[in-house]
Amino acid sequence: MPMNDDGEVENVRVVVRVRPLSEKEIECGFREITTVNTVNNTILVENPHAADGEPPKTFTFDTVFDTDSRQMDVYNETARPIVDKVLMGYNGTILAYGQTGTGKTFTMQGECSAPELKGIIPNSFAHIFGYIAKAAEGQKFLVRVAHIEIYNEEIRDLLGKDQSMRLEVKERPDIGVYISDLSGYVVNNADDMERIMTIGNKNRVVGATAMNAQSSRSHAIFTITIEHGKVGDDGKQHIKMGKLHLVDLAGSERQSKTGATGVRLKEATKINLSLSTLGNVISALVDGKSTHIPYRNSKLTRLLQDSLGGNSKTVMCANIGPADYNYDETISTLRYANRAK
Ligand code: ADP
Ligand code: MG
Repeated sequence: MPMNDDGEVENVRVVVRVRPLSEKEIECGFREITTVNTVNNTILVENPHAADGEPPKTFTFDTVFDTDSRQMDVYNETARPIVDKVLMGYNGTILAYGQTGTGKTFTMQGECSAPELKGIIPNSFAHIFGYIAKAAEGQKFLVRVAHIEIYNEEIRDLLGKDQSMRLEVKERPDIGVYISDLSGYVVNNADDMERIMTIGNKNRVVGATAMNAQSSRSHAIFTITIEHGKVGDDGKQHIKMGKLHLVDLAGSERQSKTGATGVRLKEATKINLSLSTLGNVISALVDGKSTHIPYRNSKLTRLLQDSLGGNSKTVMCANIGPADYNYDETISTLRYANRAK
């Protein structure tokens, strides 16, 4: 794991995960064009249309997960150090980026059919409550969750009573950027949290259907806030607050298909805008020299502002498929991720 001079995990890390070929892809005879080297953390992509002799393109990242990576390995390498920081009162963001069908939701949520298929979000629940259970006597924790979706630059509360409501982003000097009227739930254990995550996910799908859209065109943000109270040497209660945003981004496939008009065109423009703004914000943070970070250019980056940059820890997981027919999207995802670094 890359460390900075203070022996800490770097503030912004970019990792890549390649999903295995699906059964259908194997049946159809698609070929794998990606080769992962987990020692050098490189990924090689062969151009299926290339003339003979053209070398594959090589990309290097902080970590690269091959098709056989296990959910727990991904958790330990990417999320665990961030969740540990959040438990100490820092903010963090974990984002899954990539073309639809490459494993963003598998990485973030995973599947509930078997414990070893659980993704980063449920594994973070277990981690957080495992830590709390072991904490010394006299320490108090308050854990709250919220779950929203951003679609067409509009915010929907996935845990709200009225799913037709659209929420507003506000800003106050004392607390910074926040969403007004957002529902937050206090949770007492990992099972509570999983139940709430499931409710939010159902609302995401139902809402998308009602709007005649696809949930792959929205960003979902699951936010965990942890307040930690401890009596200090001065005999007074000290409270630290950490926040973790877990983000399943909209599909990165080129949205502006020829002929898109009306609603589809508007949707496409807004997805492109928020993903490109996110890329610009992350690359400005990594660069470290920019005086202006364009957080305000999209709702997504505005809402993540207090957890991207500064003392916060960020990891972006770029997901790709291994098959030849995904070549163009795969290259575009790796370029985006590379620029973020
Ligand atoms: P996305 O959210 O990016 O659209 P999904 O997470 O829904 O993609 O993944 C698409 C399909 O591929 C799902 O059926 C999922 O179970 C499968 N899949 C994705 N990543 C992996 C992986 N690393 N190992 C096994 N199956 C995977
Ligand atoms: Mg998905």
